[in-house]
Amino acid sequence: MIIDIHGHYTTEPAAMHTFRDKQLAGLVDSARKPTTTDLGISDEQVLKSVEKQLAFQKARGSDLTVFSPRASGMAHHIGTEATSIEWTRLSNDIIHRICTLLPDNFIGVGQLPQHPGAAPKESIPELVRMVKELGFVGVNVNPDPSGGYWTGAPITDKSWYPLYEKMAELEVPGMIHVSSSCNPNFHATGAHYINADTTAFMQLIQGNLFNDFPTLKFVIPHGGGAVPYHWGRYRGLCLNMKKPPLVEYLMKNVYFDTCVYHLPGIELLTKVIPMDNILFASEMVGAVQGIDPETGFDYDDTKRYIDQVGTLSEANRYKIFEGNARDVYPLLDRELTRRGHARQTF
Ligand SMILES: [Zn+2]
Repeated sequence: MIIDIHGHYTTEPAAMHTFRDKQLAGLVDSARKPTTTDLGISDEQVLKSVEKQLAFQKARGSDLTVFSPRASGMAHHIGTEATSIEWTRLSNDIIHRICTLLPDNFIGVGQLPQHPGAAPKESIPELVRMVKELGFVGVNVNPDPSGGYWTGAPITDKSWYPLYEKMAELEVPGMIHVSSSCNPNFHATGAHYINADTTAFMQLIQGNLFNDFPTLKFVIPHGGGAVPYHWGRYRGLCLNMKKPPLVEYLMKNVYFDTCVYHLPGIELLTKVIPMDNILFASEMVGAVQGIDPETGFDYDDTKRYIDQVGTLSEANRYKIFEGNARDVYPLLDRELTRRGHARQTF
């Protein structure tokens, strides 16, 4: 089975954008508020909206996408804490509908109703709802709800601990994922995302989070930002800061995906990062769309790159495509087992 652990609902029906526009307009003029949270989207519209993802799964050979709301759409820095809660519930609910209609193709991951200045613990009720009621297997955690200004505390700060306690208790990993950037210095997908991935990893080196939460797991997407390329720097900093060796210190809790969009990047990732810490993902349909003129294939057709790495054993290939995802997302593993998908052994 090929599990793509990173997909966003970037093809949502226009009714969602209309709701969001009205919701935000309603903050300045209450007459423009949406009158209902029922978007009037039919099941047929929902199915139609993910046709592109289904076609890509079939053409590229992936089976199940771990699917979450559009990352830039979370926009935690816009509106108020109350609008963030309402928008988050609605965004998670539509992911749940997709996963219910197409359970073989999608399994849910949710967004949190974060907001600049709001304590992370305020997101706990929605975290519990998405896992207990919506059957989600993970959660996207935004390390910078300010949208590129980093006004909050590092992810190792004690203010995050109540959220992590609940994540550990529910056995859901967090994908470190910022949203859109409102800082003109940082292009969202080209700079802000990669900055955040790198920043989060460095914060984890500086803190000692997994001493307090030994079972907590984070997935750092987009290939781990700049980290694998600078692996020597981080190993060195770790020792300079009197921490244990990097692999021993962080790599029972931190994982990277394969969204780097070219073969040399995947070759480096698989050479540098331990095999237990790489999870297959494409982030389709999303960050970089279109065909790479150098290869003739879509940039985000990431399975193709892994298939081309000749040095991977069958056992390691299985880890990247399925086994590691089942280790990192225990609720996904149990659901697949319940559905009769046994793990392969080597
Ligand atoms: Zn993403």
